[in-house]
Amino acid sequence: MKYLIAVFVLLWCFPQKPALQPAQTLLHPQWLFDGEQVHENWSVWISGNTIKQVGPRNTLAAPVDARSIELPGYTLLPGMIEGHAHLLLHPYNETSWDDQVLKTSIAERVIRAGVHAEKQLMAGFTTVRDLGSEGAGYADIGIKAAIQKGVIPGPRLLVAGKAIVATGSYGPKGFAEHVTVPLGAEEADGVDNLVRVVRDQIGHGADLIKVYADYRWGPKGEARPSFSEAELRLIVETAASSGRVVVAHAVTPEAMRRATLAGISTIEHGDLGDAAVFALMREKGVALCPTLAAGDAISQYNGWRKGVDPDPERIKAKKESFAAALKSGVTIVAGGDVGVFSHGENARELELMVEYGMSPLEVLKSVTTVNARVFGLGEQLGALKAGYLADLVAVKGRPDQDIRVLRHPDWVIKDGKTYKQPD
Ligand SMILES: [Zn+2]
Repeated sequence: MKYLIAVFVLLWCFPQKPALQPAQTLLHPQWLFDGEQVHENWSVWISGNTIKQVGPRNTLAAPVDARSIELPGYTLLPGMIEGHAHLLLHPYNETSWDDQVLKTSIAERVIRAGVHAEKQLMAGFTTVRDLGSEGAGYADIGIKAAIQKGVIPGPRLLVAGKAIVATGSYGPKGFAEHVTVPLGAEEADGVDNLVRVVRDQIGHGADLIKVYADYRWGPKGEARPSFSEAELRLIVETAASSGRVVVAHAVTPEAMRRATLAGISTIEHGDLGDAAVFALMREKGVALCPTLAAGDAISQYNGWRKGVDPDPERIKAKKESFAAALKSGVTIVAGGDVGVFSHGENARELELMVEYGMSPLEVLKSVTTVNARVFGLGEQLGALKAGYLADLVAVKGRPDQDIRVLRHPDWVIKDGKTYKQPD
């Protein structure tokens, strides 16, 4: 009797439903970039949120009633991955960084971030590594949750939370001693404090730890290293114990060297990097996220008329340093520091990577396969392969010949769901 009651209760709680067949879709682009190379007349079969098969058209074993979409003149590619964004910032020529941190309410910043998230997704970036909330606490972790729950459309996020800076190094700055202002990141130093803060940020939901290995705190306002190599190593070891990586903001060769020897995963910016430090990064398997678009945007905010005036010193130096990075063979991930410039214009970084010397095909690999692998997502994202998540973008034309066509994707599919398609 007890057994029968148990069965009845089980059936009542969990009635049998007919199994729902996931939606089946076939995409037939003219060209397909699978994360490694471009194929002509290859197709993709999507089942639910998964890529079931990729290969020459007419070789796919999709069911006959699968929805079939013709994409003549289009290249289909994996959903792009943004390597360096700040959803909680917007361009500094609209509002200065100081005023965003000090005078803008968290509510406004979060609402703006929701708009930014949608813009990045619609620009074909289905995954975004967001590297610091810049004074908005753990709002990035809440925004990630809202996207995951389907409250707002947006890319899947890897978030850093507050980020860590050495005491005295970060802004906003210039206030009298008796005035306490919120900072753009969390200060921590030394053994006990660093270990506690890394663990605390992880506990709040950070997917990775972002640390500022140098900052503009030199006697003349120039960038100088902040944390010692021992401190950086401690941060890396503490994060690694929880299965997380650390990424470092670093522009000086010395901070890049310390961060590399400490076991950091990627170096952000690397503006003053030289052949020696890039060779060291390559040897230790540390990737460079060059953020070319940030310097390009800031130089223009400072009055540079691009295309009219000659390159300012900052741009000349960055071009030289990027050429040295390419020559060294260091892994280059694609990330522009979106937020310094407009969200949704992420592809500006890809155009500059080509302008500064990379081939369009290498840039395509960087923003898909390479980013996925370096960010620990390479088993599921960054390629069009059977078993991978159905994140796809379609652009008119050939991005392997003209990178600029990536600016305006007509189709954006994330996790099998179509977010953008032509009217
Ligand atoms: Zn940044």
